Amino acid sequence: MVGYLYIHIPFCIKKCIYCDFYSIPFKSQIAGDYIKALCREIGLRKDVVGDLTTIYIGGGTPTILSEKEIAGLLQAMRDNYVIDPDAEITIEANPRTISEDKARKLLDSGINRMSIGIQSLIDKELIILGRSHNAEDAIKAVKNVRSAGFKNISIDLIYGIPLPKFQISNFKFQIQNWEYSLQKALELSPEHISTYELTPEKDTPLYEDIKSGRLAMPEEGVISEMYYKGIDMLKKHRYIHYEISNLSKPGYECRHNLNYWNRGEYLGIGAGAHSFFGGKRTGNARDISHYIESINNNKMPVAEKHYITNDEALKEFIFLGMRKTDGIDMKLLPDKKRVLMKKAVEELSSHGLVEVKGNYLRLTRKGLILSNEVIVQVLLSLEGSRPS
Ligand code: SF4
Repeated sequence: MVGYLYIHIPFCIKKCIYCDFYSIPFKSQIAGDYIKALCREIGLRKDVVGDLTTIYIGGGTPTILSEKEIAGLLQAMRDNYVIDPDAEITIEANPRTISEDKARKLLDSGINRMSIGIQSLIDKELIILGRSHNAEDAIKAVKNVRSAGFKNISIDLIYGIPLPKFQISNFKFQIQNWEYSLQKALELSPEHISTYELTPEKDTPLYEDIKSGRLAMPEEGVISEMYYKGIDMLKKHRYIHYEISNLSKPGYECRHNLNYWNRGEYLGIGAGAHSFFGGKRTGNARDISHYIESINNNKMPVAEKHYITNDEALKEFIFLGMRKTDGIDMKLLPDKKRVLMKKAVEELSSHGLVEVKGNYLRLTRKGLILSNEVIVQVLLSLEGSRPS
C-alpha cells in the first residue's frame, strides 16, 4: 500500500518563459470539472493507498484554486484514505495567489507546509523569467503565510538566470544579484530552500531567446560559483545541505521528496501525474480533457505503463540516491554489481568527485556540480563499461 500521494493541478496565471511543464491558463469552468475528476480519481485509487505519510499538491500553481476548492480536495482524501496525524501536507504557491486570509484557511483545512515559487528577489530578473510576481509580492507572500501560522515554509530560488547579451560578460554583477536574492531570502527565515540551476529546455520561449541572441546564459564558471555560493551562504546560516539542490533547517527536510530519492513508492493523481508502485511506473494522460473524459467514463486515466526490470531498479536506486548528500548504502547493492562498480568508484575518487564513508558512496563537494556526469560514469560501470 502506498503512503505518499501527489496531486497535480495544471493551471497557471501565465506561462513563464523557461517552463516546459504541462500547464494551461486558469479557467474556472474547466478547473471545476477537473476538481470533480480529481475527487473521483481519489475514490478510484482507494485500493492502493495505505496510511498517508505525505501529501503534495503541486503544479502548475495549485493556489490558483480557491481555498474552498482545495479544502474540497482534502476532504475527498479524508473520505477515502487514512491520513497520519503528523502527515506532511504541502501545497505549492505562487506569490500572487496567496493572501494571509487564504493561507489561514488552507492551514485550517489541513495543509501544513507551503512551498512558494519565488525564484528571484530582483524585479529585473523576474521580468526576464516572465514570472507573474515581483520581489515585493514574493516578500509579502512569505510574510503573509508566516503570519497566518505556517511553521513550515519552503521557497524556490533559481540561479543562472540569463541576461541581455550586453550584460552577460559582467560576471561580478551576476554573482552580486544571486547573493542579493539569497540574502533577502535568508531574512525571511524559511524552513526550507531549494536552489535550482536554470536550464533552457527545448520548445520554450527562453530557448528561442537564447538561440536568437536576445538573451545569453551565464558562463559555466559563473554558474558553478553561484551554486557553491548558495550552498555556503545557507550552510553558514545553519541550513543542512541534504540533496544536490535542497537545504533545510534541521528536521525540515522535505519528507515527500526524500521518498522519491529513496526510491519509495508513491501515487500521483491528476493529468500527467506519475506513479510508482507494484514494480511499475505509470503516467496519467497529460491532456486535461482526455483525463477528465477517462475519469467520467470510470476508466483509469493511465496513458503509460512500464514494468521496472531488476537492472533498471538498481540504476534508479543509484541515480536517485546519489542526489542525497548522504549518498547510497552500498550494502544494498548485489555483490556482483559492487565489484563491477569498484574500478569506477576508485577512478572517480582519485579525481576527488566521490568518496566512500563506511558503507556509503557519495558525491564530494567537487562532485556535486558535476553530479550528472559522475552518476553516469557509475551507471556505465554496472554494464562493465570503463569510465572515461
Ligand atoms: S508558475 Fe511554475 S508551472 Fe506555471 S508556468 Fe511558471 S514555472 Fe511553469
